[in-house]
Amino acid sequence: MTAQIIDGKAFAATLREKIAIHVAHLKRQYGITPGLAVVLVGEDPASQVYVRSKGKQTLEAGMNSYEHKLPADTTEAELLALIGQLNADPKVHGILVQLPLPGHLDEALVINAIDSTKDVDGFHISNAGLLATGQKGMVPCTPLGCLILLREFCGSLSGLNAVVIGRSNIVGKPMAQLLLRDSCTVTVVHSRTRNLQEIVRGADVVVAAVGRPLFVQGEWIKPGATVIDVGINRIEQSDGTTRLVGDVDFDSAKEVAGAITPVPGGVGPMTIACLLANTLTACCRMHSLPEPDGLTA
Ligand code: NAD
Repeated sequence: MTAQIIDGKAFAATLREKIAIHVAHLKRQYGITPGLAVVLVGEDPASQVYVRSKGKQTLEAGMNSYEHKLPADTTEAELLALIGQLNADPKVHGILVQLPLPGHLDEALVINAIDSTKDVDGFHISNAGLLATGQKGMVPCTPLGCLILLREFCGSLSGLNAVVIGRSNIVGKPMAQLLLRDSCTVTVVHSRTRNLQEIVRGADVVVAAVGRPLFVQGEWIKPGATVIDVGINRIEQSDGTTRLVGDVDFDSAKEVAGAITPVPGGVGPMTIACLLANTLTACCRMHSLPEPDGLTA
């Protein structure tokens, strides 16, 4: 058996088109342009790449992009003052502070200073609480992207056994909440789980968010299961070059799974598409306009 490959890149492109159409409608009908502000503190090279890519895709969707690049020695007071300005700015519907922040800045304090209705990363404590209690809030982009792919490829998720590997606040925990909301029976496994392989073997849906290259082996997968690989790991090859791999050993897993996301080209492109979706959702809510279907959980 060879799994269906879930083409996240193509699916994200379709999602971005749908968003762009709705953005054009908002402009035409109401004269409103959704705006996303991205704040980058310091010069972390990976963060710079992400921020550039987010800005480019925001503009391509027809939204306004506001980039704020601050030096690495920015004080907490300066950063909080900028967030205060963005919170008060009616042109800004979404605010994203690129993580990680330099060590002298308190990430939780900074994230919780963002107006929760503009928190398009969904990391604010209010949004985490809304998700945990099944209420409407902003949903973290990566788990939202995984959920949209799963709904597309599995149809109804109700009653399925889902295993989430990893319990981080940005992926594992919100992913588990979303799967629970879609009526899966959810197990979260982590670094201290004793019989991890056995638990994964019982899963109809596996979401791997571990940060360990090629961790999940094909022999752990239940035949026909849907496997979503969140991991992004750079590994060195014998010729000295590097390549990106996921947390799942794709070659062995694709022989057993029913459907599987590749790395790259799976979850990654969905994350930015969902950031645009969240910005559009935030804009619609702020103006009390109907939200387009299929863009949130
Ligand atoms: P994290 O380091 O915060 O969390 C990793 C989790 O994996 C922890 O909860 C830990 O308990 C668990 N874990 C570690 N070793 C384990 C083991 N041996 N067995 C079982 N569980 C183990 O990482 P994160 O931020 O959740 O990210 C996870 C991966 O997803 C990383 O590779 C990251 O780069 C990637 N990621 C990708 C996207 C995307 O857009 N595709 C977004 C966010 C994160």
